[in-house]
Amino acid sequence: MRRAKVLTAIVVVGLGVAGLGAQRGGVRIPPTGTIKNVRENLYVIPGAGGNTTVFVAAAGVVLVDTKLANNGEAILNQVRTVSDKPVTMIINTHTHPDHNGSNDYFKAARPSVEIVAHENTKKWVAANPRSNPAMTPDRTFTDKTTLGTGKDRIDLYYFGAGHTNGDAFVVFPSVRAMCIGDLMAWNMAPLIDPATGGSVIALPDTLEKAAKGIKGVEHVIEGHGNVNTWEGFRAYTVFNRSLLTSAKNALARKETPEQALAELEKNPTFSVFLKEELLKDLEYGGTPKSRALINLNVAFQELKGEPVTTNFGPARGANPPPPPTGR
Ligand SMILES: [Zn+2]
Repeated sequence: MRRAKVLTAIVVVGLGVAGLGAQRGGVRIPPTGTIKNVRENLYVIPGAGGNTTVFVAAAGVVLVDTKLANNGEAILNQVRTVSDKPVTMIINTHTHPDHNGSNDYFKAARPSVEIVAHENTKKWVAANPRSNPAMTPDRTFTDKTTLGTGKDRIDLYYFGAGHTNGDAFVVFPSVRAMCIGDLMAWNMAPLIDPATGGSVIALPDTLEKAAKGIKGVEHVIEGHGNVNTWEGFRAYTVFNRSLLTSAKNALARKETPEQALAELEKNPTFSVFLKEELLKDLEYGGTPKSRALINLNVAFQELKGEPVTTNFGPARGANPPPPPTGR
């Protein structure tokens, strides 16, 4: 797994040093964007790494994810346009520094700010020498936990590995919304990070358990990019299951990942996940179609029990996708 670890280190370094609107390897990282209302007291701030979700509760503001480092002030400036309350809690969906990079700004301003994440995320933060203390969760959970009551209730769920093995689903029952972190970003096949326990084999199980186990959600805030719908999440779950099935079938027939991709393309309902255009403000990973091919290659390696070396591409036999952030 050495190469996978090295690749992850490269991306983590790249994400860690990338600044506002940075241009890195031809991939532009947009700056912290304008806060948008999702529903009632729930908002999302795009840009500068992962989406930051803002939940204005009675006692204070809860943030889900804090983007790349050095975006704390920009996040707070956006929060201040909708609430004067202090930020009292930060939930991190997973360990990557484009999601917990600006925790430190809020901890410095208010040491009682509580950082909450899955227990495996705490482990990965501890294992990364580039982590800072504010990335370390103060409170962790294993399968499910509930924070707050009544209208302020937040449910955290863990259903298994996918993007990493510490990906939290953050559900706000009062506004029928959830954050899904990088298990779903840009509505395309997700980046798989084997160095932090990610797995394309485990991913469909994890998504299906969530689709079954979480009730009453209409709005799905992706880790980067879109605010999707529950129906969109269900379609995405079916697509990721079919991607794995296609990989298994192709492997059994001694075919290639490209042939598995051709099989997936026969299903017109998957066209949104297999588009060939580069999406606007995309920070990593090429077109949806190239990301699907990357994950088919990852599936081949995982199914064969080989170390995963293709999770950032270029996929064999395809046009190489643009380099990921930080390379
Ligand atoms: Zn991530």
